[in-house]
Amino acid sequence: MQILATSPAFVGPTSTTWREQVRTAIRSTEGLLKAVGLPPNHELYAEVGEFPTFAPLPFVQRMEPGNPTDPLLLQVLPTRWEQQTGEGYSNDPLHESNVGRSKGVLQKYSGRVLLIATGVCAIHCRYCFRRHFPYSAAPKSIDEWSAELAQIADDPALSEVILSGGDPLMLVDESLRELVARVRTMPQIRRLRIHTRLPIVIPQRVTPLLVETFLQYGKPVVVVLHSNHPQELDAEVLEACRQLRSAGNVTLLNQAVLLRGINDSVETLVALSQRLMEFGILPYYLHQLDRVNGSRHFEVSVDRGRELVSEMRAALPGYLVPRYVQELPGENAKTVLL
Ligand SMILES: *Cc1c(COP(=O)(O)O)cnc(C)c1O
Ligand code: SF4
Repeated sequence: MQILATSPAFVGPTSTTWREQVRTAIRSTEGLLKAVGLPPNHELYAEVGEFPTFAPLPFVQRMEPGNPTDPLLLQVLPTRWEQQTGEGYSNDPLHESNVGRSKGVLQKYSGRVLLIATGVCAIHCRYCFRRHFPYSAAPKSIDEWSAELAQIADDPALSEVILSGGDPLMLVDESLRELVARVRTMPQIRRLRIHTRLPIVIPQRVTPLLVETFLQYGKPVVVVLHSNHPQELDAEVLEACRQLRSAGNVTLLNQAVLLRGINDSVETLVALSQRLMEFGILPYYLHQLDRVNGSRHFEVSVDRGRELVSEMRAALPGYLVPRYVQELPGENAKTVLL
């Protein structure tokens, strides 16, 4: 993962507000601690290497000042706990370096192909399973996608294109429009899916042009958001979700990661589902943590995870209980744990 660099794909006239939020995001651990009213030499503080602190202000403003265990803060604050290693932890826990069809294109599952549309994100989540992914090998501009898109267009076995990353909504609207227009010319592709955290972390990213792009695609667009805690879902996020849903062909789903100290209680998980529903988002997946180096302190055991999800099932209607899944290398689908 890299910090956003200046590149032609990211320069656009219509996107100043959210781009400004990316530009002014907090990029140091000291700055983040200061922003939430904690001493910069707090005992949690750790030097970071290749995956620096990166937290945009709309997300930081939802943290509780002075609380070192705030569930949003802990998702983005590098801590000394990241130095812990453990059995099974590695830089490429999903063996993704083996499933690349070509650079920037991953296919693990039948019918669905995943495009790493960009390597950058609008936030650096400390538990990210792609935090060591070799993004620099992926194409940097739409022109560089030609070969990959031609290959997808020629594959009759595909029915869904997934734009992922990084965060595909880091592309400016003009580039995204071009990419979506290309997918639209492929008759066998029945659905477009976008894996993004941007509407949660910078709700201003949902611009009128973005909504229009989805609307013009015509076929179903599935936007899979990523929120782990109900405190992430404020009034601005609600407005962004309303705008997305106004396209009519957009379905909103959520994926969360089960994280120790952040959402590993039945109260929090139930509150998350309830709040998602109020925003018109259905819970899709609750992921077991992938064992990526630096994330060990976030791991919740699978036994505890199963317990939590059965308690959710007892408290909620079935459609508000996410599938608890784990990604095991070499399987033909995600493994459902409960
Ligand atoms: C998770 C994932 C998908 C999507 O899987 P679904 O079960 O359809 O949500 C597709 N491709 C890759 C590489 C994935 O990791
Ligand atoms: S938004 Fe997703 S891809 Fe980006 S750092 Fe967070 S978990 Fe990783």
